[in-house]
Amino acid sequence: QKIVIAIDGYSGCGKSSTAKSVAKQLGYTYIDSGAMYRAATLHFLNKNVNITHTEEVEKYLKSLHITFQTNPVTHEQETYLNGENVEQEIRTMRVSDYVSEVSKLKIVRKELVSQQQRMGVEKGVVMDGRDIGTVVFPDAEFKVFMTADLNIRAARRQKELQEKGTDVPLEKIVQNLAERDKIDSGRKESPLIKANDAVEVDTSHLKFDEQVNLIVELAKK
Ligand code: C5P
Repeated sequence: QKIVIAIDGYSGCGKSSTAKSVAKQLGYTYIDSGAMYRAATLHFLNKNVNITHTEEVEKYLKSLHITFQTNPVTHEQETYLNGENVEQEIRTMRVSDYVSEVSKLKIVRKELVSQQQRMGVEKGVVMDGRDIGTVVFPDAEFKVFMTADLNIRAARRQKELQEKGTDVPLEKIVQNLAERDKIDSGRKESPLIKANDAVEVDTSHLKFDEQVNLIVELAKK
């Protein structure tokens, strides 16, 4: 029987890559909720939206259409904003530095959460984010809360960006991750917290395959 798996945790813990692999092993659909907040952020940046103006945000939320498509060559899932492939652009520091501010907004969360809930009705879904086990799918059959040491997370993210051809200084990444953790944990709307029934997985000293296998095994129980 198919279930919903919710994976939450701090920025840069490897939630997305882990969730992706878990989904693949189980034959489930992977949904990157962070990509949706990133796409919304890019949309507001592109349209020069003043996010302190609720009416303006509301207006531009109406012209925000986020979809996911599998790249036929790499078989990787990619994010589309109003029909345009924005997978690369939503990972840039320009978006990373602003996304947690946008994610604080109640009306943005309300809209994206309802889209996410619709994506999960069929079960057989692995979704990663910050509020999946607490808000989006409080009844998820299996919940994971991922953590890892900040410096280890930053080093992993730096390597990831390097592999994509961008060199970002380590301090800048540490700063961005710490800042996002602070905003995500401290915000009024759906703060990042571990759901009571989530299993905590500290990945600081786990190899990638180890964390994936651990979660797959736990999910099967
Ligand atoms: O997962 P990722 O790091 O790409 O998410 C980017 C940002 O989007 C997070 O730092 C957080 O501010 C926001 N986010 C959120 N709720 C989610 C997923 C992401 O607030 N469910």
